[in-house]
Order: sequence, then C-alpha cells, then structure tokens
Amino acid sequence: MSVVGVIAAGGSGERLGAGEPKAFVALAGRPMLQWSLEVLRAACDRVVVAVPAELVEGRPERVAGGSSRSASVRNALGSEAAADAAFVVVHDAARPLVEVELVERCISALDDADGAVAAAPVTDTVKQADASLRVTSTLDRSELWAIQTPQAFRAAALRDALDVDDATLAAATDDAGLVERAGGSVVVVPAPPENLKVTTALDLAVAELALRRRAAC
Ligand code: C5P
Repeated sequence: MSVVGVIAAGGSGERLGAGEPKAFVALAGRPMLQWSLEVLRAACDRVVVAVPAELVEGRPERVAGGSSRSASVRNALGSEAAADAAFVVVHDAARPLVEVELVERCISALDDADGAVAAAPVTDTVKQADASLRVTSTLDRSELWAIQTPQAFRAAALRDALDVDDATLAAATDDAGLVERAGGSVVVVPAPPENLKVTTALDLAVAELALRRRAAC
C-alpha cells in the first residue's frame, strides 16, 4: 500500500516578483521546494514533483507541470512513480513550513474518508458582499476552516476527481474540492496557521524567519 507524495511546484510565482519560479527562490539558504521535498520524503514512499517544463532537466522525480495547479497534480499522478499509489499526499511547494507530523496525521485520517486536508480555524470574521460591495451575509466563523496543503487522498478517488476537462481543473482552488465535486468524502485535519503559503515578499520574509528560528531550536 504505497504512499506517493506529489509536490505542486509548477507555478511561475509572478505575484512574488522574484524573476524565477517561486518554488526555486532561495529561502533560509536553500530553494523553497527543498524544504517540503525533505518532509514529504520522510513521510511518503516516493515523491514526484511537478515543475515548470524547462526545469525538469531529465531528473527522474520531476515531471512537467500543467497550465493550472490541479493540471500539474494530474501530470504528476500520471507518472510511472505514482502508478502503484494507494494513497497520495498533495502538497504545494509554496508551503515550506510543513512538518512530517502533519503529513502523517492527514494520511491517518484517510481511515474513514477519501480525502483529508490540513486546515486552520478561521480567525477573521468572513462576510459575503455583492458586486457593489454591499454585504449580503456574515458567515458563522465557528464552522469555517482555512484550507492548506498537505491534502491526502485515496489514490483512486483523486484520479477519478482529476479526470475532468482543463477548464474545471483550472477553476479548482484545491484538489479536495474536485474530490467533493465527484461525490467523495473529505475531512479537515487541524493544522497550525504557521503552515503558511508564500505568495508575497512579506510571506517570504516571515517564512525565512520561522525556518531560521526552527533551526535554532
Ligand atoms: O500560485 P499559487 O501560489 O496558488 O500556487 C500554489 C502551488 O501550486 C505552488 O506551489 C505552485 O508552484 C503550484 N502550481 C503548479 N502548477 C501551476 C500553477 C501553480 O504546480 N500551473
């Protein structure tokens, strides 16, 4: 029953403005991707990484990413290394603060679900507003979770969910949403808000600080 890790690292990272793909930006002394690669290697039997096509460089664990994040995940799942996966852990290279313990808790939560996603309770109040900025509702925060990666899946459920057209893949903001859409059951796995996603230069600075503090402990 093999567990295959998939790292989505195929984005261009334009919002970060670093002039190179985000996953390869230097972070606390190494490329950002390296932090989550090491964690997934420790928690999974094998790891496949979807990278921009020009960075595959003939490396066996790398596949070319797709035109959207979920298309990149689908490409990785189609690789030979993922062929016998019973369980798949999908993780964004943009979350370099992930820890092995969180990945393992997501995998364990698959005992009674098709998908298990790391998530932090929402701390802000969340409102809906219409196009004219008029608030239409205030959501019940006690039931809201901010979804992160890692996201662990039964491989068959994820393959099924990703077997959709490119427009549907492009509209998905996470893979669990596609599994839900296909009728699969998904549970949340409480995760620390520190498992942040690096999108802006400020996020990068915060991640750098957190990784250096972790190394010093
Ligand atoms: O752009 P965003 O930060 O939402 O991307 C989340 C993750 O998905 C990043 O790690 C990025 O490298 C990856 N991605 C990908 N293929 C794409 C777009 C994004 O693997 N086509």
